[in-house]
Amino acid sequence: MHIKKQRLLTPGPTPLYPPALHAMMASDLHHRTEDFRKIYKSALADLKEVMGTSHDVVPLVSSGTGAMEASVSNLFSKGDHVVVCSAGKFGERWAGITKAHGLQVTLLEEPYGSAVKPAAVAAALQANPDVKGVFVQASESSTGAAHDVKSMGEIVGKTDAILVMDAITGLGTMPLDIDGWGLDVVIGGSQKAFMIPPGIAFLSVSPKAWKMAETSDLPHYYFDLTKEAKNAAAGESSWTPATSLILALAEALRYIKSIGMDKLVDNAQLLARATRAAAQALGLELFAPDSPGAALTAIKAPAGMDSGKIVKGFKERFGAIIANGQGSMKGRIFRIAHLGYFDFNDLFSVIAALEVILVANGHEVKFGTGVAAVQEVYAEAAGVRLPVTA
Ligand SMILES: *Cc1c(COP(=O)(O)O)cnc(C)c1O
Repeated sequence: MHIKKQRLLTPGPTPLYPPALHAMMASDLHHRTEDFRKIYKSALADLKEVMGTSHDVVPLVSSGTGAMEASVSNLFSKGDHVVVCSAGKFGERWAGITKAHGLQVTLLEEPYGSAVKPAAVAAALQANPDVKGVFVQASESSTGAAHDVKSMGEIVGKTDAILVMDAITGLGTMPLDIDGWGLDVVIGGSQKAFMIPPGIAFLSVSPKAWKMAETSDLPHYYFDLTKEAKNAAAGESSWTPATSLILALAEALRYIKSIGMDKLVDNAQLLARATRAAAQALGLELFAPDSPGAALTAIKAPAGMDSGKIVKGFKERFGAIIANGQGSMKGRIFRIAHLGYFDFNDLFSVIAALEVILVANGHEVKFGTGVAAVQEVYAEAAGVRLPVTA
């Protein structure tokens, strides 16, 4: 018997930033006080700064899906024609939400592990000039694939439609120039790269999107973006806010600002690159090889091995929770997360553990092969070796 530390290594919820967790201990405060208004206002200002946008950023008490639904119920009207890009479980969620609200949906579908091409969006908009909105995931967390949202922003920006982007695992893992790329609605959630527990979602709303809110006729009450934005500007929230999470968010944002949002993105991208190198060194296949994102890396289990065995191995041997595949991908892939508070020490140990688990399940690999690949990526990026002079 040996000690197994509990480790949360999933792509949401993600590992918590300890000072943010400690900040939650000051939760015995009332939200209709000057003390809280100050904290709320400053946290929202920091959030806007970290997202790098001049658009309004509206906070909501919900998981990410609440903000996805709010974007539909506040900006669109019954029967509106929209385009939904779907290449995974979260794309299917957009289809579900838009259909539930009575929108007319043109679905642009790609197989799991692929991404919808910007050209397909351009063609759909050309063929359907009545389209009011395009929905997409910046990062499709069920497969690890990323969408080319910069190109999509350019394409949608030339039309009357708005681009509504689930960036719940895109924020903090890929560059997103919200204003510059024409990203009208950008949705984030607390439990992903923001390093705090689930319960807060937020979305930036462009002036073009606010225009649509003026004529929207879909029912909504709790998630009223116009009301919430007006209140937020005064340091107030429409309903009781998740005070404990706001304290945590304020602390996490201080940290993210201190390192820089671009460095948080670089961190995820470097860890993702190292993970792909490790998978290749171990002879494992990537699930989304053509458009890999940096929020997480989905890897196929070796032929004949259920990926549940790998997930179980992490839990039982090493006390760590990693993600299986979702839906039809369950048992076929496992997902290694990089978003938020992950570092190279985490990855060294994840890959070392993976090697042990593979061997324990009869997939022979030479110990250290994957770890060495991660070390090589680290060494190159950190300039560990002196340049060789001829
Ligand atoms: C986590 C996640 C969501 C939101 O899921 P919730 O459980 O509602 O927080 C939505 N989209 C993507 C891409 C996600 O990764």
